[in-house]
Amino acid sequence: MEHVWARTALTPAGWQDDVLITLDAGRIASVTPGSAPQGTRTGCLLPAPANAHSHAFQRAMAGLTERRGPNPSDSFWTWRQLMFRFLDRITPEQVEAIAAFVQMEMLEAGYATNVEFHYLHHQPGGTPYGRLSELSQRIAEAADQSGIGLTLLPVFYQTGGLDGRGLAPGQQRFGNDVARFSVLVEEARARIAAGPKDWGFGIAPHSLRAAPASALHDVTTLAPDGPIHMHLAEQKAEVEEVLAAYGKRPVEWVLDTLSPDHRWHFIHCTQMEPHETEGLARSGATAVLCPLTEASLGDGIFDGVRWMNANGRIAIGSDSNIRIALAEELRQLDTSQRLRDHSRAALATPERSTGRRLFEAAIQGGAGAAGRQTGALAVGNWADMLALDANHPDLDGMNGDLILDSYIFAGDDRMVHDVWSAGRHMVTQGRHIHRDGIEAAYRAAVRELRATA
Ligand code: ZN
Repeated sequence: MEHVWARTALTPAGWQDDVLITLDAGRIASVTPGSAPQGTRTGCLLPAPANAHSHAFQRAMAGLTERRGPNPSDSFWTWRQLMFRFLDRITPEQVEAIAAFVQMEMLEAGYATNVEFHYLHHQPGGTPYGRLSELSQRIAEAADQSGIGLTLLPVFYQTGGLDGRGLAPGQQRFGNDVARFSVLVEEARARIAAGPKDWGFGIAPHSLRAAPASALHDVTTLAPDGPIHMHLAEQKAEVEEVLAAYGKRPVEWVLDTLSPDHRWHFIHCTQMEPHETEGLARSGATAVLCPLTEASLGDGIFDGVRWMNANGRIAIGSDSNIRIALAEELRQLDTSQRLRDHSRAALATPERSTGRRLFEAAIQGGAGAAGRQTGALAVGNWADMLALDANHPDLDGMNGDLILDSYIFAGDDRMVHDVWSAGRHMVTQGRHIHRDGIEAAYRAAVRELRATA
């Protein structure tokens, strides 16, 4: 049995000191405060969250979409055109190399799990690979290299818009009808089942634009026990398109038609009216927020204050992967509320500081989004753990919630010293143990892609 000892740790009973954690087959076997040091010694031990929304391949586009195009108003939609052009070239080998690199960065940032919203399925032009699930398999191969916990969400993408139009040339690599998608899902599920025991599986209709209402039911029955994820209410133009087609705003339609519950995870939700925010929060569904990407793409500001006052569940994702930065995601979420409302610390409660409330919400919501037994340093959970460097100047003398506030608001991922995913100790001294090899393969892949960009 392996032991990890922490000077202080955030446990289900709150902050406790001199905590000894015993690991057994990747799970937490015991949590004992007041223990003498033994095994790996750490400063501040926290449960490590899941990164609840990612499109791995987009990591290679980071920094390439900041120039002004011929279009007078650059927007999400022109960004999407660039993304589609990028997709005309990317190969399975490149997908694997990029995914392994971004998963490594996620671990170094403190995430234990990659919930991969995987919609790139076919060859350029839309012809399937010899093995229909080829690119899902590549994501799994990448996770074998990086050691991250993987929850794979194969994405159903059928139409180019709510009028049922076909896919544009840039979308051909994503497309399936329900019958072919079912085959792809079974292949991908078998690969995940053959992987480490902590890996998980769910399903993701891409969005109301890409998944016709008539197919939604069939698609969501393909993973009866796993989480369901869908992009929702991200952009104003999307709201208008749904309103025109269905006579309701996206969240109104979802509440009336899908009766969402705790299995449902809606990505973004940056375009909601107050009644939608409150209705969706009360449904038990989780809002998966990607604050850095939402800011980068100009999506809008999620109403976190109203959502959390209605006891809504949140999870955090890195989405476009323009930055892999856990503390920054949480800070950006809170900062956006401050800028909109001219307020401070509106998400804190009398019992919990802002940092504590955001962090606990993200680890608990992330566990649901990954369909993974995690989210607390508790016996039986997977040993998903993150240790902050207690010797960092910003943590010197800090205790309790001040640790999380200093990490999120004053610090950054450089405070992350060790990370375990299901007991796999992948990050030591702030560095992934296989960084050199994974980085070399990534450099080779992006060099090829950028040469033809
Ligand atoms: Zn997304």
